[in-house]
Amino acid sequence: MKKIFKRILKITLLAFLAAIITIVIIILFPQPLFANKMSYKKFTVCSNDKIDDNIKNILDKAMDLVQQSELYDPGYKYNIILCHNTFYNKIDDLLGIGPAARARLNNVIVKVRIDPNSNLAFATFRKECEVNLTYLLAHEMVHCLQANRYGLMKFNPFRHPEFWKLEGYPEYISKQKKLSGKDYSLTNDIDRYVTLESKATDIWVSSEEGGCEVPDYYYKGKLMMEYLMDIRHLSYDQVLRDTASENRIYQEMIRWNNDKKHEQ
Ligand SMILES: [Zn+2]
Repeated sequence: MKKIFKRILKITLLAFLAAIITIVIIILFPQPLFANKMSYKKFTVCSNDKIDDNIKNILDKAMDLVQQSELYDPGYKYNIILCHNTFYNKIDDLLGIGPAARARLNNVIVKVRIDPNSNLAFATFRKECEVNLTYLLAHEMVHCLQANRYGLMKFNPFRHPEFWKLEGYPEYISKQKKLSGKDYSLTNDIDRYVTLESKATDIWVSSEEGGCEVPDYYYKGKLMMEYLMDIRHLSYDQVLRDTASENRIYQEMIRWNNDKKHEQ
């Protein structure tokens, strides 16, 4: 009796282990699950739906942004996994719901409906809103490059730099087009953030357009990264190595902003 019980326990454990390994492999290497694939330059786009040719234009724009990063690797290849309404998305939800997209190894996983023709992704978490698709892809591509440059041991869901350094940099790179526009001013954007933050009742603050809200460390991190890189001329590598606290850098940026306004 004892022997049979032990054998059943062993088989159950093995089956459980096999199921876990299968899920991990599927999560890390999702490409074979998708019916349609399109190769374009450094990208393989995977989807169960017909792949809109307009995505090529969006991928080009995202790559233009990512090329501005010091982490850019010309040999790096990305899988763009369009998994809205798929079984894979449900498996991915096991890792937590919320984000419109995720980066995992060299996979950019887009979890929400997209329209490449209007360059939009339609996020639904907290409330329905529109995200610029180029920005969304570029942001996740930079996450891929962080792990590519610094290794998965330093950039993974359990171990990574502080959130403002983790998210601020992809935000900074993916919004380069806006930041280099002639209507843009860092001081105005800092003022906008300070006002939003003072009114916020939780960590969620409104992003610029499309009605989406983001955790404040995305916005604050983007501003701090912009201050450190464009004003103090640090590289991302130097920012990562810098041991100054988030609060110290933030207060320094606020002081710089106040001085700058007095100069005007
Ligand atoms: Zn991110």
